[in-house]
Amino acid sequence: MSWESSATYYEIINRYSNSILGSQNNAKSIMVTVNFDEIEKLQHADKWEEATDILIKACQNLQKGGADFIVICTNTMHKLLPQISLHVELPFLHIAEATAKEINANNHKKVLLLGTKFTMQEDFYKQKIAEAGIEVVVPNIEDMELVHKVIYGELCLGSVKDSSKDAFLKIIKRFKDIDGVILGCTEIGSLIKQSDLDIKVYDTTIIHAKEAVRMAL
Ligand code: GLU
Repeated sequence: MSWESSATYYEIINRYSNSILGSQNNAKSIMVTVNFDEIEKLQHADKWEEATDILIKACQNLQKGGADFIVICTNTMHKLLPQISLHVELPFLHIAEATAKEINANNHKKVLLLGTKFTMQEDFYKQKIAEAGIEVVVPNIEDMELVHKVIYGELCLGSVKDSSKDAFLKIIKRFKDIDGVILGCTEIGSLIKQSDLDIKVYDTTIIHAKEAVRMAL
């Protein structure tokens, strides 16, 4: 979610599988795509139970289709994972756990988290990172509003603007004592790249997709 980042996941999963396995190998996968317009409206109307039902059905379809495990291609909707997993037998690869593992592999201790307001403000995501022994900081409320607005108003629609990139970089550079920044929304990678910054960029889409390949193998 949105399909913009689902497309990125699909490409990384297949390219990374091929880089490991060679020849004509790619990943066997099943993708269930939801209509993000429905999801986004439910999120902003605070109707999370209805969104949970949509995701439970999507996960059950993956189960029926013969998947071995599930990757939910969004940070925000991991908010609903505790409820979803009550109705699905398959294991999930949690995006924040995969990200925390990568941060710890680099021995980084303090990171900035950028994502939707749900991800930055609530505990469901930050707690996973903190449980792994990593300190998480978030932008001030004004900057959170800007990041949230750009995610839904631009990035989820495939619109990548230089002005938004500059604004994101300005926000990140306000933090002087961090080891890295988590791109904790699966579309931010279309705006911010590792080459834009001196600190480590933790792009959750790349991390999650690659960890899924390693888990499958
Ligand atoms: N893809 C985004 C994320 O990683 C936001 C869209 C959504 O609400 O799922 O959080």
